Amino acid sequence: MMNMNNEIKEFFEENSIEGIVFDLDSTLTDTKSWLLFLYKKFSIRISTYINKKYRLSINTEDFTQAYYQSEFIEYKMGNVNFVTRFPSSISRTLSSLKLNNLDEKDIVNKFTEQIKEIYTLSADPFDGTLELLHTLLAFTKVAICTHSGEDWTKIKMNSLKSKYKELYGNIPDIYSYYVDINKPKNTSEWIKAANTTNSTPEKLIAVGDNFDADILPAVEAGYKYIIWLSLYNDDKEQDIKKLKSQGVNIAVIKHIKELENLLTSNQPFEDI
Ligand SMILES: [Mg+2]
Repeated sequence: MMNMNNEIKEFFEENSIEGIVFDLDSTLTDTKSWLLFLYKKFSIRISTYINKKYRLSINTEDFTQAYYQSEFIEYKMGNVNFVTRFPSSISRTLSSLKLNNLDEKDIVNKFTEQIKEIYTLSADPFDGTLELLHTLLAFTKVAICTHSGEDWTKIKMNSLKSKYKELYGNIPDIYSYYVDINKPKNTSEWIKAANTTNSTPEKLIAVGDNFDADILPAVEAGYKYIIWLSLYNDDKEQDIKKLKSQGVNIAVIKHIKELENLLTSNQPFEDI
């Protein structure tokens, strides 16, 4: 009986697949847990500062919850930059806690430098990510397509590579392509990411968690196979059905750990 690695390799060969392009955040790395940890850390500092300065007793959990909600709303509104959206996030947080008489500008000035530190850090890989990369890198091209800008992408890639090296000693070439933080991650970006591997989308698999920034652009770019990680979002059943009816080879998984099994099952994109 063949081992799993050979079965994946065979799947790639039978379908003339030359490589795989991954989104990074919340696909290969546990970005949500990491962000929750950071929001909590900032919330403790900010609420402590406010309590002391204004002689209040705001509950840290309440502040964390309000701050997290505010950040999420800002993100959904398209404000993807942690630093430039910080004033709006603070404003939203304070008004949701009915703390309307505080000096917002003072709070923003006091903590902006700490918020900037986010861009020097990186989330850890999900369980199974390094093992998956190890399997794939043994026989195919792997690329990362991340929406992090140049400097932050370097930091994230170095973090991923060093964790890989800790486990496996060294790392073969892994391609990376970054989209500027202030630009959308759209179809042409997914095509350029494919081109970093000297291949084209028709010969590659795309994997991502964001339906609008990964899945739809990858479909439009013409990727041969598309895998959606619906970790935090599973309300797209109709959209998936529609894409399948249009002949798109798309599969849905809940966690990156499921990818190896998906690529070794007999007909992974037939009837999911
Ligand atoms: Mg993502």
